[in-house]
Amino acid sequence: MLRMHDIHKSFGALEVLKGIDLEVRRGEVLAIIGPSGSGKSTLLRCINKLETINSGSIEIEGEFLAVTKENGQAEYAESKKERQLLGCMGMVFQQFNLFPHMTVMENLLEAPMHVKGLKREEIEPYAKELLAKVGLSDRADYYPSQLSGGQQQRVAIARALCMKPDIMLFDEPTSALDPELTGEVLKTMRELAEEHMTMVVVTHEMAFAREAASQVIFMAGGNIVEQGEPEAFFANPKEERTKAFLKNML
Ligand code: ATP
Ligand code: MG
Repeated sequence: MLRMHDIHKSFGALEVLKGIDLEVRRGEVLAIIGPSGSGKSTLLRCINKLETINSGSIEIEGEFLAVTKENGQAEYAESKKERQLLGCMGMVFQQFNLFPHMTVMENLLEAPMHVKGLKREEIEPYAKELLAKVGLSDRADYYPSQLSGGQQQRVAIARALCMKPDIMLFDEPTSALDPELTGEVLKTMRELAEEHMTMVVVTHEMAFAREAASQVIFMAGGNIVEQGEPEAFFANPKEERTKAFLKNML
């Protein structure tokens, strides 16, 4: 589904990703954990080209979004192919990033109508289904400012799903929420995982990673330090840095 090989990314002189390899199969949930500044968000943002990589390759469903040329520089697919591949991905950010001047329903319809060119009546029934799925059927006509943070984040998830992505990317989707509101968002994400949505989730929620992920990656200093299936990873971390990190998280 998604394969990244030897990804390098620098901001000026600062090398933030130092040769990352990862693979996510269809229906898998990959959790990425690690200390602040380790490059987790940058890695996630490289997947959907919010950041461009310097070198390495990104493969989605067997097609290359980016490959490294002989000169050592990454080159991206031509624009039509690129749009198609990027269209497979939905993203949810820490800050919910809803359009504040639009209602919940308008937020959901915006991209399907204006990016995909669908008619309102073609997509609205699906948008309603998604709102029901995230438990917000009765909030379709509300504005984001009239919702709690947890509700806004569930709208953001529904909005991303409305584009029918094959992969969902989450960057610390609960970190901006009051603790009592994280549960409802994690529940929505767990349900998505149970429906076999392919997901890459940067998270500090170790319980979520342990229960919902199929693979866990621990990043530090721009490298993948350790990777494994959650049970073994949490019960029996091998690397000292992983052990120290996990100890701090408890
Ligand atoms: P956190 O847990 O705090 O969110 P992170 O693991 O997501 O951290 P990144 O946001 O990927 O870390 O940042 C990795 C490094 O890259 C940091 O040193 C950060 O300052 C730097 N960085 C990130 N984005 C940029 C940018 N646009 N320009 C310059 N430096 C950046
Ligand atoms: Mg981050």
